[in-house]
Amino acid sequence: MTHSVQPAASLYINGEPVEGRGTELAVLYPYTGEVIARLHEASVDQVAEATKVAAAAQPAWAGLRPIERGRVLLRAAAIIRERSEELARLETLDTGKPIQETRVADWPSGADALEYFGGLASTVTGQMIPLGGDFVYTIREALGVCAGIGAWNYPSQIACWKAAPALAMGNAMVFKPSEETPLGALKLAEILTEAGLPAGIFNVVQGRGAVGAALVSDPRVAKVSLTGSVATGQKVYAAAAAGMRHVTMELGGKSPLIVFDDASHEDAVGAAMLANFYSSGQICSNGTRVYVQAGILPAFLDRLATRASKARLGDPLDDQTQHGPIVSAAQAAKIRDAIRTGLAEGARLVCGGPGEGAFVPPTVFADATDEMWIAREEIFGPVMTVLTFATEAEVIERANASDYGLAAGVFTRDLSRGHRVAAALRAGTTWINTYNLTPVEAPFGGVKLSGLGRENSAAAIEHYSQLKSVYVGMGGVDAPY
Ligand code: NAD
Repeated sequence: MTHSVQPAASLYINGEPVEGRGTELAVLYPYTGEVIARLHEASVDQVAEATKVAAAAQPAWAGLRPIERGRVLLRAAAIIRERSEELARLETLDTGKPIQETRVADWPSGADALEYFGGLASTVTGQMIPLGGDFVYTIREALGVCAGIGAWNYPSQIACWKAAPALAMGNAMVFKPSEETPLGALKLAEILTEAGLPAGIFNVVQGRGAVGAALVSDPRVAKVSLTGSVATGQKVYAAAAAGMRHVTMELGGKSPLIVFDDASHEDAVGAAMLANFYSSGQICSNGTRVYVQAGILPAFLDRLATRASKARLGDPLDDQTQHGPIVSAAQAAKIRDAIRTGLAEGARLVCGGPGEGAFVPPTVFADATDEMWIAREEIFGPVMTVLTFATEAEVIERANASDYGLAAGVFTRDLSRGHRVAAALRAGTTWINTYNLTPVEAPFGGVKLSGLGRENSAAAIEHYSQLKSVYVGMGGVDAPY
C-alpha cells in the first residue's frame, strides 16, 4: 500500500476516533485502484450514539459567546491553511482529482467557509419590535443536532460548507461522508478538535445509504443537509418530513451555458471547458448543455476540439496533470453508457469518447437536440453536449425546459442582454461571462428538482437557525373574567 492513508479509526464520536462496528468499507485510490484505507461502517447503535453525544454537548456550545465559537472556526481555518499540501494530497488520493485542483479548490474553499462563518457568528442579532409600551424581541437560536450527508465529488469542501454555518450558529453536527470518499471528513473532525471544538459537537459516521437513512430518521436530528443526487434527495426529504425536520437539499443539475455570437469566443470556450471538464466533469453545477448561437458554432467547435484534446490526463499526484480518473469503476461505467447513448441517438462526437480504464477523456457532442437523453439527464462526467440556437427568446425557453434548476450561465458583451437573460433563467445560481465560481460570500443552491435552501453567504445562517419571538408585557394583564 504505497499510498496508504489509514486513519486512526473509521468514525469520530465525542471528540475521538472510534472504530466502526459495521461492514468493511475499502477506500480505493481511483488512479491505481489500490486500497489506501480499510474502514468500517457505523452500526445503527453507533449512529444513535453519535446523535446522543451531539445532543448532550450542543446546549453548552450554543451557550458560549458567539465570538468564542467563531474563534474555534477561525483557528480550524488557519490549521487547514498551514497543512494545505498534506490535505490536498489526501483529497487527491480520496477522490482521484488532480493535485493542481485540490490545492486550490477543495480544502481552501472549506477554509474560506470556516473563516466566513467564524467571522459572521458574532454579528447575528435579533430584532426589537416596538408595540407602543409592550415589545417583542427575537432570538435567532440554534436548531440542535444537524445531520450532514455528503457526495463524493468535493468531500472536504462539502463537510466544511455544512459544518461551518451549523457550528457558528451553535448547533452540533453528525456528518456522514460519501462511502466513496470517507477520509476528508475525519480529518476535519481532528482539525476542529485541535482548534478547540468541544467533544461531541462535530462527529463523523461512515457508511452507505442505509447509514445515512438511519441518521436522517434519528429522533434527535432537527435538520438534514444533503448534497447528492435528486433520487436520494427525494428519499431524504420524505424521511425528514416524517419528523418535520428542516432540510437543505443540494442536488443534481443539467445546467445551460448560453453563448451569444457577440461573446469573447476564447473566454466562452474556456468557460465551457471549465464548466464540463474540471474535476473530470464531476461537478453538480456544470454547464453541460452548451447553447451556441448559430453563426459562431463552427468556429466554437473547432476551438473547443483543439483545446479539449490537449488536456493532460495522467497521475493525479503529478503537478502537470489536468484531467484525472473518474472516482470509481461504477461511475466510469455509467459515463461510458451515457456516451454510447449519445452516439446511438445520433449526436456527433467532436472529441473524446468512452476512454479506457479509470479515464474518460474530455468529450464533446455536437448536432444534439433538446430531446436527446444526453441533453436532458445528468451524466456527472466529462461530457459536454453542444446545441445551437437562433434567438434570445428561443434559447431562454429551451434552457428553462428542464426539471433541474441548479445553475446557468450566459456569455455576451451586451450588458443589458446579460442581465436580462440571467434574470429569465430558472436557476438558483447564474453567471454572466464566467462559470462555476462559487465564493463563500455568495449564496449557492438550486430551484426545481435541484434542491432547496442555500449554502454559503449570510443566507446559510437562516438554514441553521430558527427565530424565537419573546413578547414582553410592560403593563398589567387586562383579563375579561
Ligand atoms: P448520491 O445521492 O448517490 O449519494 C449522496 C449521499 O447520500 C451519500 O453519502 C450516500 O451514502 C447518501 N445516501 C444514499 N442513499 C441515502 C438514503 N436513503 N438516506 C440517506 N442518505 C443516503 O450522490 P453521489 O453519487 O454521491 O453524488 C453525485 C450527485 O450529487 C450528483 O447528482 C450531483 O449533482 C450531486 N451533487 C450536488 C451538489 C450541489 O451542491 N447541488 C454538489 C455535489 C454533488
